[in-house]
Amino acid sequence: MRPSDTVGNTPLLKISDKLYAKFETYNPSGSIKDRIATYIINAAEKNNLIKKGDTIVEATSGNTGIAFSFIGAERGYNVKIIMPRNMSEERKQMMRLFGAEIIEVADGDFDGAIALRNELAEKNGWFNTNQFHNALNIECHEKTTGIEVLSQTKNIGEISAIVLGTGTGGTIMGLRKALINVYPQMKVVACEPAESPVMSGGEHGLHGIQGIGDGSKFLVDLNVLDDIVLIKTEEAKERARRLVKENGIFVGFSSGANVLAAERWIEKNNPEGIVVTVLSDRAERYLSIF
Ligand code: PMP
Repeated sequence: MRPSDTVGNTPLLKISDKLYAKFETYNPSGSIKDRIATYIINAAEKNNLIKKGDTIVEATSGNTGIAFSFIGAERGYNVKIIMPRNMSEERKQMMRLFGAEIIEVADGDFDGAIALRNELAEKNGWFNTNQFHNALNIECHEKTTGIEVLSQTKNIGEISAIVLGTGTGGTIMGLRKALINVYPQMKVVACEPAESPVMSGGEHGLHGIQGIGDGSKFLVDLNVLDDIVLIKTEEAKERARRLVKENGIFVGFSSGANVLAAERWIEKNNPEGIVVTVLSDRAERYLSIF
């Protein structure tokens, strides 16, 4: 068995009577992004698009970079990661330990990172994993995360809503696809940083909830969102600290945002059934800023 064979099939934690969360820190590189990295590379290998020794390139706020760096180390690919400079130092160290090369762009400049990735992939013939526009990203969460949630909640109760932040939007869109036919009344609720409320029609701004609110809508179909909850960076951090200290759940800031957004949505809407969210990554990649 290889490390990547252990991706997925994560536990579903009970946060409260109404709130359950996929414990994605169980994945081998510590985040939900191991799912799409494995899925995209497996598909590329199957279709003979890449072979050992080739170079893969991606633009990322970090977790996707860590995930591809891990797969690259496992399978013998060179990995180039383009990311905004203001992402945490721990993330960069993890990628370098796996052997990846990091190319930095300006703080918060995801569009610049994506443009540079496309240019370098084109110029050098590198394999562009294209997470922000890749249908496999949604398909992965539909076929893995979503199917797991369906079977793990079968004996708990009906799902009234999913509430989670969006980076690429792959998780929320894939989860929705898997669940909506079974629970047609289910609400799809996004969460985004209050400092960068782009899905709510506001301006892109700098914020500290790394992994979500990257400045564009990407894979998110705004027509299927029932609600958007805004969470401030400081609130997300505080909720993450409490999850660590009061529940022993060692997770990062976007997990704090997800749990807080879900709690606020439950408080306001008093749903009949349960709400599902995601604990996206482990806290150690934020130690210097926790
Ligand atoms: N939280 C964290 C910490 C992440 O790294 C990401 C992915 N960038 C997300 C949430 C959002 O996931 P998705 O890209 O599927 O919307």
